[in-house]
Amino acid sequence: MELAELTQEGRGIFIVLFFILGAVTGSFCNVCVARWPHGQSVIKPRSRCPKCLKPIAWYDNIPLISWFVLRARCRHCGQPISFVYPLVELITALLFVAVFLRFGLVPATPVYLLFCAAMVVVTFQDLADWTIPDEITLPGIPIGLLVALLGTFLGAESGFRVTSVLDALGGVLLGGGIILAMDRITVWVLRKPGMGFGDVKLLAMVGAFLGWLGAFATLMLASIFGSVFGLLLIMLMRRKQDTTPAQEASAGRQTSESSKTQKEKTDRKSLESGEEEEEITIEGHYLPFGPWLALGALVYMFFGPELIAWYIHRGAVLQGTTVYLP
Ligand SMILES: [Zn+2]
Repeated sequence: MELAELTQEGRGIFIVLFFILGAVTGSFCNVCVARWPHGQSVIKPRSRCPKCLKPIAWYDNIPLISWFVLRARCRHCGQPISFVYPLVELITALLFVAVFLRFGLVPATPVYLLFCAAMVVVTFQDLADWTIPDEITLPGIPIGLLVALLGTFLGAESGFRVTSVLDALGGVLLGGGIILAMDRITVWVLRKPGMGFGDVKLLAMVGAFLGWLGAFATLMLASIFGSVFGLLLIMLMRRKQDTTPAQEASAGRQTSESSKTQKEKTDRKSLESGEEEEEITIEGHYLPFGPWLALGALVYMFFGPELIAWYIHRGAVLQGTTVYLP
């Protein structure tokens, strides 16, 4: 009770503190995304410029601020620094503030913060490298089970949503199981490249933290987000194909002039090359599923009870109407 009063009175200060903690954590997420795909340590060496390899001084390494102060360029070699770095820091900072506003300062708060940071790393590593870090998903499964054990002892009033180890274990088996089954069906029956074991381990870990219902809802949400985005992308590309070559050439020139990243350019190039290849690239390569799973998991983490209540109410309303049908 006293803690709740304290956080209520010092609400503004806590929001600032959570924002700063989130920005600093986001900075560490950037290190993970940059180094894990190459099997490098995230602790040493100190942060270096990826181009000139000069160490970055502490005053050039302040989350969010330094990128603007340096005007997105390395102090030593002047090479541009990607906007993704401050973006990751900002997203993590906002997620941390959202955790405070949603859950307050309860024993479960650190768990929610860590889960947010984990989803940020998963999202940006999958987007940049098309891999999902085992460094997060593999230890995440037993940690999620331990958190559920803690939840059984501390109870729901301490902010834990999963208060049964069986629920968490069900989440691991259901989450991992569904994606594994989908992957095997895609490979064996449809003879297409599957979803990959990164996604299997990811949803198993999400299930450990959010329970079996959470794993199921995360997959549903991820599928909805992914399909809506995929459809929009296909519509966008169809429209681009209809444009005349002259327009396309000018569009291409504009792209190279603007500060688009190299990856976006290569994506564009491969998307523009040939219609047959297009379908494969859309499904197989250019839309990783990890970010959608991470987004679905976060939506469920923040709004799970409301989503379930809405869904049950909707079902009850539908059932109610069937009563009146002949
Ligand atoms: Zn440099």
